Amino acid sequence: MSKVIGIDLGTTNSCVAVMEGDSPTVITNSEGYRTTPSVVAFSKNKERLVGNVAKRQASVNADRTIFSVKRHMGTDYRKKIDGKNYTPQEISAYILMKLKSDAESFLGEEVTDAVITVPAYFNDAQRQATKDAGKIAGLNVLRIINEPTSAALAYGLDNGQPQKILVYDLGGGTFDVSVIEIGDSVIEVLATAGDNHLGGDDFDDRIVNYLVQQFKESDGINLAKDMSAMQRLREEAEKAKKELSTSLSANINLPFIAMGKNGPHHMETSITRQLFNELTLDLVDRTTTPVENALRDAGLSKGDIGMVLLVGGSTRIPAVADKVRQIMGKEPSRNLNPDECVALGAAVQGGKLGNQLIPGSAASELILMDVTPMSLSIETVGGIASRLIERNTTIPTRHSQVFTTAGNFQTSVDIKVFQGERKFTKDNKMLGNFKLNGIKRAMAGVPQIEVTFDIDANGIVNVSAKDLGTGREQSITITSSSNMTEEEIERAKWEASVYEKQDEQNAGYVQSRIEAENVLRRAEGELSRNKKEWPKEKKKDVKEKIVALRKLVAKNKPENMNAELSKLMDEARYSLENALK
Ligand code: AMP
Repeated sequence: MSKVIGIDLGTTNSCVAVMEGDSPTVITNSEGYRTTPSVVAFSKNKERLVGNVAKRQASVNADRTIFSVKRHMGTDYRKKIDGKNYTPQEISAYILMKLKSDAESFLGEEVTDAVITVPAYFNDAQRQATKDAGKIAGLNVLRIINEPTSAALAYGLDNGQPQKILVYDLGGGTFDVSVIEIGDSVIEVLATAGDNHLGGDDFDDRIVNYLVQQFKESDGINLAKDMSAMQRLREEAEKAKKELSTSLSANINLPFIAMGKNGPHHMETSITRQLFNELTLDLVDRTTTPVENALRDAGLSKGDIGMVLLVGGSTRIPAVADKVRQIMGKEPSRNLNPDECVALGAAVQGGKLGNQLIPGSAASELILMDVTPMSLSIETVGGIASRLIERNTTIPTRHSQVFTTAGNFQTSVDIKVFQGERKFTKDNKMLGNFKLNGIKRAMAGVPQIEVTFDIDANGIVNVSAKDLGTGREQSITITSSSNMTEEEIERAKWEASVYEKQDEQNAGYVQSRIEAENVLRRAEGELSRNKKEWPKEKKKDVKEKIVALRKLVAKNKPENMNAELSKLMDEARYSLENALK
C-alpha cells in the first residue's frame, strides 16, 4: 500500500499531511505553500484552476470561480458553468485531485489512499458527499474522521498526560466543539456540538455588508449588484479581518471599484477593531451555546476541563479568543498551529489504518474513539421521532429495537429514517426511507418488526428492518436524495480525469504562446543591440521572422489557442531562434 495521506478539506483552505517516521508532517503544495485555498475556477478558455491560481484570478472571473463549496456539501446545490451543472462533490473532487497530485510530487510516489476530515457536526449526507468527492478524485477514502478529534489526536501525540480537553474549532464555514478525554493511549470523544453554518466567511460578510452600505450612502452606488466588485470587496474584507487580528485598525483601499456617470469611484476607508467587534458580536456570541451543550452532554463542568484547544483560522480573531476565555474561565492553548493540526491528526489516523506506523511508537499505540454527533430515529405513529441511537454514542455502534404495525392486516411498513434532536420528525432531517413488504397478515400490534441501526467508523449509517415472523429483511445505506448514485460518481470520475488531461493539453498550447512572446522580446532586444555588428542579411531575416511571429501572437489570444495554432507558433519561434544563432 502506498503512503496514506491525511487531508483537511477545509471551507477556505485545505491542508495535507503524511507520516514520516514517527511523526506527521505537512506536505507543501506545488507552489510551496503549506495550505491550499479551497477554490476552483474555470478560466475563459475552459482551463480548470485550483488553489492559489484560482483564488488570484477570482475578481476578474467572479462568476466562474467557486469559493467555500464545503458549505454546500450534502445539498442539491449546483454550479452551472458552460452549460454543465457541477455538484459540490465534483468541485470538492477537483480540490482533492490537486492535493493528491501535489502529495504525489512531494512523496515521489503514487498516492491512492487517504483519510479525510469533516466537521464533527456534519450529518450523514455531508459525510457521504465527502466520501464521494474522494472517490471522484480517484482516492480510496479509508476513513472519514471528525476535525476536532483529529486535532486532539495531533495534540494527544505530543501531550500524552491524561486529561479532558475542549476543542473549540471555528474555521471558514463551520463551528465545532468537542469534549475529548485523552487517556493512556486512548483518545475518546465524550461529546460534540456545533453549528454547520457559522465560520470566518460570516465575519467577512459583515465587513462586506458594512462597506456596501457605507458606499451607498457616500457615493450613491449599490455595489451588491456588481459581482466583480463584490469579489474584490470580499477579498479586501478578509484581508482587513486578518489584519485586525493583530492591529487595531485596517485600511480598505479599492481603487476603481465602480464606474459612475462622472467617472470612476474609489473606495478608501478604514475599519477599527472596535467596529469589527460590534459588527460581529452576535456571531461570536453564537458559539456559547454549543460549548455549554457539549459540556452538558459530556456530563462535565468547566472546571473538569484541563485544556482548551483553539483550532481553525477564525480563532485568531481576538474577540473569539476573549469569548473562549470568558466562557471557560481559562486561557486557551495555542500549542498547535490551528491551520495544520487537523491534517496532522488525519495523517496519524491514516498511518494507523495503513499499518504504516513504527511498532511501539506513541502514534501506533493511540486508539481513537469517536461519537455520532446527532441522534437517529425512525418515524412512528403521529410523526413522532422514535430514537434508536442517542447523539454522542461512541461509534462504530449498532442498536436494534422491535416495532409493530399500526393498522389491521397491514402487510408493509414504511421505514423513514431521521437525524436530529427534535421530538417530531418534521423538525429533523430525513436521511432516507425504504419499504418492508410481505409482512404476515395480522391484527395491528401483532407483527414484530426489528429495526437495526448500524453506524460505521466514518459515521455513516446503515439501517435494516426484519419481519421476525417471516424472516423477510430490507436494508439501506443512507444516501439522501442530494447524494450521487454509484453510476453518477463513476461518470464524474471519468469526466474529471479527462478534464485533467485536457487541462494539461490546453496549458501546453497556452505555453507555446508564452514562449513565443519570450523569444520575441529576446529577439527584439538582440536586434537593437547588434544593429551595427550583424550583417544586413541576418538583420533582414530576423526582422522578417519577428514580424511573422508577432502577427501570429497578436492574432491569437491565449484562450483561443489549440493544437494547430500551437504547432504554427512553435515552428515560427524555432525559425526565429535559428535566425538569431
Ligand atoms: P480554516 O477553515 O480553519 O482554514 O479557517 C479559515 C478561516 O480562518 C477563514 O475564514 C480565514 O479568513 C480565517 N482566518 C485565517 N487567518 C486569520 C486571522 N489571522 N485572523 C482572522 N481570521 C483568520
